[in-house]
Amino acid sequence: MSIPTPPFTDEHEELRASARGFIERELAPHAQRWEEEQWFPDEVFGKMAAQGLLGLKYPEEYGGQGGDYLHEAVLAEELARAGSGGTAAGIGAHINIATPPIWKFGTEEQKQRYLAPAIRGERIGALGITEPGAGSDVAAISTRAERVDGGWVLNGEKTYITNGVRAHFIVTAVKTTREGGHHGISFMIVDRREGVSSSALHKLGWHASDTATISFQDVFVGEENLLGPLNEGFKLIMANFQWERLVMALGSVGAMALAWERTAEFARQRSAFGRPLSGHQAIRHELADLATSVYTCRCVTYDALRRFIAGEEPLKEVTMAKLLTQRACFELMDACLQIHGGAGYMREYWVERAARDARLGPIGGGSDEIMREILGRVLGL
Ligand SMILES: Cc1cc2nc3c(=O)[nH]c(=O)nc-3n(C[C@H](O)[C@H](O)[C@H](O)COP(=O)(O)OP(=O)(O)OC[C@H]3O[C@@H](n4cnc5c(N)ncnc54)[C@H](O)[C@@H]3O)c2cc1C
Repeated sequence: MSIPTPPFTDEHEELRASARGFIERELAPHAQRWEEEQWFPDEVFGKMAAQGLLGLKYPEEYGGQGGDYLHEAVLAEELARAGSGGTAAGIGAHINIATPPIWKFGTEEQKQRYLAPAIRGERIGALGITEPGAGSDVAAISTRAERVDGGWVLNGEKTYITNGVRAHFIVTAVKTTREGGHHGISFMIVDRREGVSSSALHKLGWHASDTATISFQDVFVGEENLLGPLNEGFKLIMANFQWERLVMALGSVGAMALAWERTAEFARQRSAFGRPLSGHQAIRHELADLATSVYTCRCVTYDALRRFIAGEEPLKEVTMAKLLTQRACFELMDACLQIHGGAGYMREYWVERAARDARLGPIGGGSDEIMREILGRVLGL
């Protein structure tokens, strides 16, 4: 399947080739083992950093590559080739949701203390917004930061946090007024220290990523770790949503294209009733429909990406891309699993993992229902 080139240049395609080589060599061969161990090693971050892959969009002064969102988009698509949604999620959370608020809103000192070591792969980050009582309704968070001399004391609980066990620092949303809500939330960078405890959660998919509940019990956070302006944390949450959703769409497009290629090959090789599976019209038509879905998802996602790069703030297009691709990816993986028959249900086949991993898309980063609510507003309904 050919890849539409714009908005990518030759330089982006060179990055694609080298990132793909690294991922196929260093990550993909371990996908099955990391899935079973429910963990990928922390050293993966160091290896990614050595390739310059943890700081593609970040300025050189912090150790980044001085690239842009397009470079990051290439990596987001290629990470699907790790063959492990969990590994891609752990890396992606570090690159695309935990560190961007520090880059955009951090002080120079915070960037040196957190962003630079994160780009070097020495310190791993997580983003802590969701709580047991507040997911889609982010303004309802209740983790409280009480003002004390020299800083704040935090009490509360975050849940479903990617990298929640391994993270050295958690970019955390907290209530800094009694009322909380849109005008009473702030962000703080919380180091793993006394009072911070994590417990791993067990999931349907993304087994290689560590997802955790994190408790804060009387955790002191110094003045210098307030990220962005006090009580304006809601703006920080909103600031990265478009990019996070674009990255999810790109990851799904990458995963869908790969799954289609592998399933088409399987259908050519496997025989039933005296001919290849692809020689049966029902299977051939299914593969034709799936190829159309991959192409449609790619076009819609690339259109949103082009607009995003051009600085358009394309809320409608990004929301549509997220909504379309996450459901389509899950449906495509299910169809690919079906074409594999009994083999598709077996642990040793990649498609069993891919189908479970894809189920998260319509829930995480803003659910399908929330995407439709946003579209309802944008469309004036
Ligand atoms: C594997 C995994 C990793 C995650 N990683 C992170 C992370 O790193 N950091 C982080 O902060 N969070 C993370 N999350 C949390 C994720 O963003 C939330 O699960 C998601 O936003 C949904 O919130 P919720 O689970 O509380 O569901 P709820 O908000 O309780 O929603 C439950 C259901 O109701 C629907 N619903 C809610 N409101 C409406 C409405 N107004 N109209 C119609 N339907 C509605 C939802 O769509 C959903 O179907 C992760 C979650 C998972 C599962």
